Amino acid sequence: MDSHDKQRDSGYDAGNGTSPTVPTGVTESEEATPTTEATGAAEVTGSTGSTEAEEFDHEKAREGARLLLEAVGRDPDARGVSDTWTRRVPAMFETLTEGRREAAKPTMRTFESETDGLVIKTGIPVYSMCEHHLLPFYGAAHVAYKPGESMVGLSKLVRYVRWRSRRLTTQEALTSGVATGLADELEAEGVVVEITATHMCEAMRGVETATATTTHESVGELSSTDHERFRESVRDSGWTPDVF
Ligand SMILES: [Zn+2]
Repeated sequence: MDSHDKQRDSGYDAGNGTSPTVPTGVTESEEATPTTEATGAAEVTGSTGSTEAEEFDHEKAREGARLLLEAVGRDPDARGVSDTWTRRVPAMFETLTEGRREAAKPTMRTFESETDGLVIKTGIPVYSMCEHHLLPFYGAAHVAYKPGESMVGLSKLVRYVRWRSRRLTTQEALTSGVATGLADELEAEGVVVEITATHMCEAMRGVETATATTTHESVGELSSTDHERFRESVRDSGWTPDVF
């Protein structure tokens, strides 16, 4: 009960504007250290940087979901929604944010490179969530890399994109995250990533018709021929966004 109340209090404090520009990093550190001690938060941030995201706080997720139900005028204990905040939403958010937990990352077992050409995989499904509205955006990623010493199976690219997508993010950040992440994992000479996605925050609220957004990121050494080959492959894949 105690820690429960503390968490609520710290949440309200942030909302009360005692410090109007609370950097998100501070909030995240607090999430990872339920003790809410300032020293504890500093410790976490100071360690590996990614540890802050390793834990999922079920208690806070439950509380948040319950408050949201109350905010929209629903009785959180009514039959239809009692499981929503106690179980379903926390479980779903835990899964949909596992891209921030290293432990959930797919193993990227590599084998000796058989080619010095470009390895291309188009039409990789993307399901992610926009950090601005907590609503999904979805579409496809097209990925190409130029191997260094080692390669991975194409299915690993699919798994990597899925893992990486499971977080609250923006399409731009996801695109560059996949590109730099893969470049690191594969020690590739170069990686190019293109994501085209439809955003539900736009489709559901929008006055404008939903559109597909395309983002592009390229890291490392890729020639203009490599880029051309990538473009052709994306075009030839015939993949088109599912916009409605
Ligand atoms: Zn959004």
